[in-house]
Amino acid sequence: MSARENIRKSVRFEVFKRDNFTCQYCGAKAPDVVLHVDHINPVSKGGDNEIINLVTACLPCNLGKSDRLLSDSSALDRQRAQLEDLNERREQLEMMLAWRDELQSFNEDTVQLIADRIGARLPGHSVNEHGKSIVRKWIKKFTVEEILDALDIAAEKLSTSPDNEEVNDCFEAIPRICVTRRLPEVKQRILYARGILRRRIYVNESQVMALMNKAVEAGLDVEELIEYAKQVRNWTEFRSEMEEIANG
Ligand SMILES: [Zn+2]
Repeated sequence: MSARENIRKSVRFEVFKRDNFTCQYCGAKAPDVVLHVDHINPVSKGGDNEIINLVTACLPCNLGKSDRLLSDSSALDRQRAQLEDLNERREQLEMMLAWRDELQSFNEDTVQLIADRIGARLPGHSVNEHGKSIVRKWIKKFTVEEILDALDIAAEKLSTSPDNEEVNDCFEAIPRICVTRRLPEVKQRILYARGILRRRIYVNESQVMALMNKAVEAGLDVEELIEYAKQVRNWTEFRSEMEEIANG
């Protein structure tokens, strides 16, 4: 009797879900392969059917690990095995679909939660369906924590009764803040300096980052750079100062 007949269907489903429907030995995924549940500690050595002792494995890996040998079976045996295989594939496809539905509803809950939090931070506004479709894209790239942190940062800049434009700017700032916060601290500070420059003077967009990066690499303290960005009078002056520092 094979292991998969011993283990309850619901337990197998839980093991497959935990392992993302992927063989934990070789990385093969359903439905490319038929998956089995393998005992980490074999039954013959006292292993039980608790989830903690179970792992997802494809057939070759499962056989390779077990002490069972492929018998030289008759044509009838092989046919029966193929039929079992087909049933197993069908069952696993159904499991995968159910799993996707579960993930989908989980994602929708997450989208709703984020939309609610955004609405709470933007008095008099709420996230409409279009907004939610954008949030759906965010959660593929960023963690919920990153998004909520970015929301807090973006919302700090809002006035007490923000108009539509302000609210849209805040919303659009969220993914940008998520990206920026993943950058190393120095990089974030250089971007901050660029923001200051942009607000104050004309900035050559194709040169500004490279110039500042080089100057910082050459030893310019990034906080000094920020102070300089707050007082430099024009782009030409800024560029020559950065070049001078970069060229030592
Ligand atoms: Zn495998």
